[in-house]
Amino acid sequence: MIEVRFHGRGGQGAVTAVRILASALYLEGKYTQAIPMYGTERRGAPVVAFLRIGESRINERDLVHNPDIVVVLDPLLSRTVPVTEGLKEGGLIVMNFPKPGTEAGIGGRFMLATVDATGIALEALGRPITNTAMLGAFAKASGLVSLESLEKTLLEHWPGRLGEMNLRALRTAYERVTPPVDVSGIQAQEKRPREEIFSKDVSSWRIFKPQLDEDRCVGCRRCYIYCPEVAISMIQGKARVDYSSCKGCGICGEECPTGAISMVQEAL
Ligand code: SF4
Ligand code: SF4
Repeated sequence: MIEVRFHGRGGQGAVTAVRILASALYLEGKYTQAIPMYGTERRGAPVVAFLRIGESRINERDLVHNPDIVVVLDPLLSRTVPVTEGLKEGGLIVMNFPKPGTEAGIGGRFMLATVDATGIALEALGRPITNTAMLGAFAKASGLVSLESLEKTLLEHWPGRLGEMNLRALRTAYERVTPPVDVSGIQAQEKRPREEIFSKDVSSWRIFKPQLDEDRCVGCRRCYIYCPEVAISMIQGKARVDYSSCKGCGICGEECPTGAISMVQEAL
């Protein structure tokens, strides 16, 4: 039996990725078990989902504690969440990271494959929803599921244009994922204190941050009203973001009628 753990953030589609992968493997005659685990419903909050893959009926009902493979949908998550915890020696990590695996700050007796899933998702979908790109990367790096089965399942899940867009993300990541590299000689980066899901400081949840152009702000307060984290205040008729409370959801940018807020990617 092979056990897989997916790490992501609310809104990146980790739970959907596990469901699609389980269905694609089922098409190939495998027994599968998909287990979603939501920490909180908040968009941007850390999320974990598990998958078991077997050649015969799976009777385990526990969460996965010692995965063979870990999939990380968010490039900054590994700085605060112990994504390699319990990963078996020689295990595989497939990570959304735009640089080679040796630069990801992850060390240990593991193999690490990387792919710029955020960049691919932005190209294919126009949004940083990285789940389908990471499925393409998973298929190539693990060799456990064929691209064809994933394509078929994906189109059943999202028929039409949305399916076509997700297919593009899946195929591009399949092509671009790096071959897994040995990171046993790499010094793991020191982690910041473990993330508190209900912490007020949600800045580490962010991949994108809102950037304000004060000259274009007309003080309409739409961003202030719609921000789900109450991270925006109005000071002398202009919007101001408290970045420690901002999780980078981008709602303020979508609601701003004058284009005063643009979302810019955080540096890695
Ligand atoms: S929505 Fe845009 S224009 Fe309105 S207050 Fe916010 S930044 Fe200013
Ligand atoms: S400031 Fe904008 S990006 Fe940040 S949490 Fe509020 S709505 Fe989301």
